[in-house]
Amino acid sequence: MERWGADLYGQPCAACGFDWTIEPTAARDLVLTLPDRLAHTTTGRTGAERHADLGWDVTSYVCHVGDNLRAWAERLASGWLAGRTDVVGYDPDALAEARGYSAVPLAVALWSLQASVILWVASVDRALAAGVTLQHATRGPQRADDVARNNAHDAVHHEHDIARILAG
Ligand SMILES: [Zn+2]
Repeated sequence: MERWGADLYGQPCAACGFDWTIEPTAARDLVLTLPDRLAHTTTGRTGAERHADLGWDVTSYVCHVGDNLRAWAERLASGWLAGRTDVVGYDPDALAEARGYSAVPLAVALWSLQASVILWVASVDRALAAGVTLQHATRGPQRADDVARNNAHDAVHHEHDIARILAG
């Protein structure tokens, strides 16, 4: 079984401080407000900035968070819209390569993230209301609550990475 959540990152997350006991609706709100925070954090930057300890540049982290939210919006919709709950993982590095994250202008990555957030919030609200539980191939059962927290953590964790890069 693949480790995930507090079991993998610690409670709170050792890197970004995310508290895994957060209410799902509060996790949702962290994601909803992310584009505005990132727009502020990255003002005047190119997106090509890097940190020696981190694998991607700023724009790539923005692209990743948007794509992760988009992927999970679809997975949750599989539950509440189509009644299908089996989901599998994906390789973020392979997706970064296929999508060419580094070539995306930062302003476009932020625009795309905003669109992903709108879709994700709509989907997570439906999934929470419907009590969706996904069956993840390597993580086991993932309730909508778990997905809301996991996805919010991914967003906040990489927001922390971006702040670290830009502070360097
Ligand atoms: Zn974290």
